[in-house]
Amino acid sequence: MTELNSYSFSPIGVIHSPYKQKFAIPRQPGLVSAAHGKLELLLDENQQELIRDIEQHSHLWLIFVFHGTSDQGWKPLVKAPRLGGNKKTGVFATRSTFRPNPVGMSVVKLNGICKINGNLALDISGLDLLDGTPILDIKPYIPYSDNVTEASSAMAQTPQQTDLLITFNTKAEQQLIQVNADYSDLKLFIEQVLSQDPRPAYKKANTELQEYGMSLYDLNIRWQIQNNDCTVLSIEKLT
Ligand code: SAM
Repeated sequence: MTELNSYSFSPIGVIHSPYKQKFAIPRQPGLVSAAHGKLELLLDENQQELIRDIEQHSHLWLIFVFHGTSDQGWKPLVKAPRLGGNKKTGVFATRSTFRPNPVGMSVVKLNGICKINGNLALDISGLDLLDGTPILDIKPYIPYSDNVTEASSAMAQTPQQTDLLITFNTKAEQQLIQVNADYSDLKLFIEQVLSQDPRPAYKKANTELQEYGMSLYDLNIRWQIQNNDCTVLSIEKLT
């Protein structure tokens, strides 16, 4: 067998994300365009120079570590959710988080540059990343080569569609008005997250009334689903 060196990498940045837990994070970037986050740079070098001209690019590739699952190991075969969750597929034929090297890649929209904790940060949206995700590298998205127009994927050709009807009950509407000013696009964000139907696959066939909760930013959001009706019940600050 060919002997190759091992390489170790240190994070160059960290993600500040509204997704505080894995539950309800979309499967890929761009599916929830109203997800706003920040990438704080951690390098001590001149940070202005590191990102000089980065705003010439509308979108960026982020190369990151699946830090929330990296201690759980990996297997050559995984159950791909797109194949109903029962059939097993080679890990390299999937975007599974459980990989020999737990590295992921996501395209995000660059909205501008800001500061966090005295460091420069990139204001991004459309992310599919857990809060605290370590970033290994940032590269510009280059449309002429990254957008492969003839590409196909028999396994995942289009985003999974749901026909959930999302509504907010009176209490949730009032709570939304109270907290709305502190967050960008909060109502749209909640609607887009719920439109992805974050329920585990085995629960989706259930026609009984089911209640769920999720954390977005510092908010605890509760909702219920019955058939195709999804009602947001409450939006409360976590204490
Ligand atoms: N776009 C990336 C890719 O293709 O490499 C990630 C795809 S992966 C299927 C998306 C899922 O990764 C999300 O739904 C979320 O549950 C999970 N995830 C996101 N950030 C993570 C992290 N830092 N550690 C572990 N899991 C994470």
